[in-house]
Amino acid sequence: MKKLEDLIITYKDFPKKGIDFKDVLEILQNPEIFQDLILKMSSNKFLKNAEAIISIDARGFIFGSAVALESSKPMIVARKPGKLPGKILTREYDLEYGKNSLSIQSNALKKFDSFVIVDDLLATGGTVNCVSRLLQDQGKEVLGLITVVELKKLEGRLKLDFPVQSMISF
Ligand code: AMP
Repeated sequence: MKKLEDLIITYKDFPKKGIDFKDVLEILQNPEIFQDLILKMSSNKFLKNAEAIISIDARGFIFGSAVALESSKPMIVARKPGKLPGKILTREYDLEYGKNSLSIQSNALKKFDSFVIVDDLLATGGTVNCVSRLLQDQGKEVLGLITVVELKKLEGRLKLDFPVQSMISF
């Protein structure tokens, strides 16, 4: 029987030279393993204490939505530029490859005080750090990060001032 680690495929030099891209999408083609993963991600202690989940564009939405359903928590999203209507809050960050910015809808954010962040992968930690700073600048509490994959040698968790639960690390 296949295991979670068998479903995370490494693509060398994608999207540019020197990056070992970890593709998590094959998990979705294996419903039993996907379900087991979501159950584990949803049984987390710091998630129980959070009012809401915030998931990160774009693969974070896949796992965040499933965790939101399983844990019966509301979810808001952090999106890449130009995607969200209405009043937004935006912050720039560095990626393992390149620069980007993320935005959150102000009205969605106002409804909740404490969050758990859900994403597919923690690399340098720049993305998650951007989202947590955006939240903390608005007086919100970040209780933790739940991620499918963690790239340990990039030490992303050292950038974060809250606990990290990764389901698999490389
Ligand atoms: P970072 O800000 O460096 O922690 O990068 C995390 C974000 O970039 C995640 O949302 C991933 O989707 C994506 N990412 C960064 N590095 C990789 C990688 N080696 N393989 C797959 N996705 C990556």
